[in-house]
Amino acid sequence: MKEIENLLRENIKTIKPYSSARDEYKEVSENMVFIDANENPFQNGVNRYPDPQQVTVKRKLSELKGINKNQILLGNGSDEVLDLIFRAFCEPNKDEVIILPPTYGMYSVLANINAVALKEVQLTQDFQPDVNAIIEAQDISSKLLFLCSPNNPTANSFEASKIENLIQSFNGIVVIDEAYIDFSSSESWLNRLDEFPNLIVTQTLSKAYGLAGIRMGVCYASEYIISILNKIKPPYNVNQLTQEKAIERLIRLNEVTSEVKSILEEREFLKTELEKIGFVQKVYPSDANFLLTKVDDANLRYNQLIANGIVVRNRTTQTLCENCLRFTVGTKEENKILINTLRKL
Ligand SMILES: *Cc1c(COP(=O)(O)O)cnc(C)c1O
Repeated sequence: MKEIENLLRENIKTIKPYSSARDEYKEVSENMVFIDANENPFQNGVNRYPDPQQVTVKRKLSELKGINKNQILLGNGSDEVLDLIFRAFCEPNKDEVIILPPTYGMYSVLANINAVALKEVQLTQDFQPDVNAIIEAQDISSKLLFLCSPNNPTANSFEASKIENLIQSFNGIVVIDEAYIDFSSSESWLNRLDEFPNLIVTQTLSKAYGLAGIRMGVCYASEYIISILNKIKPPYNVNQLTQEKAIERLIRLNEVTSEVKSILEEREFLKTELEKIGFVQKVYPSDANFLLTKVDDANLRYNQLIANGIVVRNRTTQTLCENCLRFTVGTKEENKILINTLRKL
């Protein structure tokens, strides 16, 4: 605990959170009169402020993942969760974070917004963390290390032994971004959260759970880290409609499971068919819901696909991704359209 406290920004160590009206009095019962928050009293379903602690969503997630609800923080997408982590630990114009390109673009955007320096340690040729280089790169101001596993855009998971080695040898906080964990054959690090006080695991409802539009990101960490992030989050950061929709989906988890199963089947179909296309040079193994695919000329193929009404992600400018396109696994029909179009080019 002491060690983690030392990693916090000075102003965060002593910060007093905003106390919202709904924080002060939490018990809601039928016949009480709530005239504490300057709301419009006429009922329309959303005239009251939402639960600032999202108790029902957290209870569902807690049951589902087997994690204590005091070890969960919810955000307006993972993007907000990641931003809160920056603001808790990184002193602007002083601290730095380490990322492993090619990876998710938001880490560097958030570093720039927060005036935090970025150290980049490229993945190895087989898209794995270069453990020795990372350990060598860290110094006293290295506060966060972002491990995206399964990684976007490379689609692979990092080896567990490498991740464990990094959690143990990194002097700051290790953030494992598991946005794609539900498509992966490797185990979530959630199961090992209690072993590592410097570990934060982030997940999201935007991918497998099919709720990108409601914006809900999930952060799992020690009770201590969660209590700090709770103090600095905007009080009503997850709106009422989002909470309701998330609960609805978490209750009908069987739908998520069957959609994921179908996406995984389609991923195999798409891989097999892509490999038969003449100008496709390589389809990388995927632990996610997309396929990184090397073609002869990514810019040319990207533009041809656009001309045919198909939008894919061109990753050719990313390090180690020369001439690579990223295809999200779609519905059966969408995947057929993609393959048929590629065949015609
Ligand atoms: C899509 C994605 C997210 C999800 O972000 P949200 O803000 O929760 O929608 C997080 N991390 C990675 C690596 C992603 O690709």
